[in-house]
Amino acid sequence: VVFSPLLFIFAAKTLSPYISAVSTLAIASCGEKNDNQLLVYTEAGFAPYEFVYKNEIVGVDIEIMKAVADKIGVELDVQDTNFDAIIGGVQTGKVNAGAAGITITAERLESVDFSQPYTQTEQYVILPADNTSVKFVEDLAGKNIGVQQGTTSDLMVEELIANGKMTGAILTPYNTPALAAAGIGTKIDAVVTDKLTAEIIINNNAGLQAFPLTNSDGSPVAEIEKYGICVAKGNDELLAIINEVL
Ligand code: GLN
Repeated sequence: VVFSPLLFIFAAKTLSPYISAVSTLAIASCGEKNDNQLLVYTEAGFAPYEFVYKNEIVGVDIEIMKAVADKIGVELDVQDTNFDAIIGGVQTGKVNAGAAGITITAERLESVDFSQPYTQTEQYVILPADNTSVKFVEDLAGKNIGVQQGTTSDLMVEELIANGKMTGAILTPYNTPALAAAGIGTKIDAVVTDKLTAEIIINNNAGLQAFPLTNSDGSPVAEIEKYGICVAKGNDELLAIINEVL
C-alpha cells in the first residue's frame, strides 16, 4: 500500500489552525489493552504522520495502523501520549504498537522491534524567514534551540553541544515541534526537527524558513533516518502483518 504524504500535506495546509498545539485534544479512549482491539500509541503533534482534525487523530501512521487492524479484524484504538513515552509503553506491553514517525535507531532496537522502514527523513532547521546569519550547524553555537523531547533531533542537538559543534547552545525540549516553533522570535532562535514536519510548519507560517542542517563543509550533520512501526520484542505475528500492509 502506498500512502501519499502529499495528501496529508494538503490536508495539513488546509487545516492549519488545527495543527499546532492540538495534542491536548486527544481522543478520549477507554484505555486498557484487550483482544478485540489494536491499541496504538502515537504523539499527535507530528503532521503529516499524525495530527488532530475535528477531535480525531488522523495521518499517515493512523492510515497504516487502520489497515493493520482491518487485516487482523479488530478495532483500532489510537492513544495520544508524549513522544518519549511511546517506546516504553510498547516495550512493557501497555500497548500493542507505536506509530509516530519513529526513527529506527540502534538504541531503540534494544527495547523494541521495528517494522520494515516505510519512509525516510533528514534533520531540518527552522529559522525566522529574515535570518541570514545562520547557515550551518556551527552558526547555531550560543543559540536557543527548540526540539521535541526524546526525538532524534533532541538527541542529536544534545550530542552536537557536547562535542563542541554547537558550543554554548541552550536546548529546550517541547512536547511537539509546532510548540517549539511557536517560540521562535521570543524564547527560541531555531528549531531542529524532521524534514516533512519542518516543511509543514513553515507552510503554515510565512515568518519562518527551513532547510537541511549541514556542516559548513556542506556535509550533512546527521545520517538519513528511516521510520518504522514498533512492537514489543518478539511479537513477530503483529510485525508480519504490519510489514504486509507496508
Ligand atoms: N523521527 C523522529 C524520532 O523518531 C521524530 C518523531 C516524532 O517527533 N514524532 O525521534
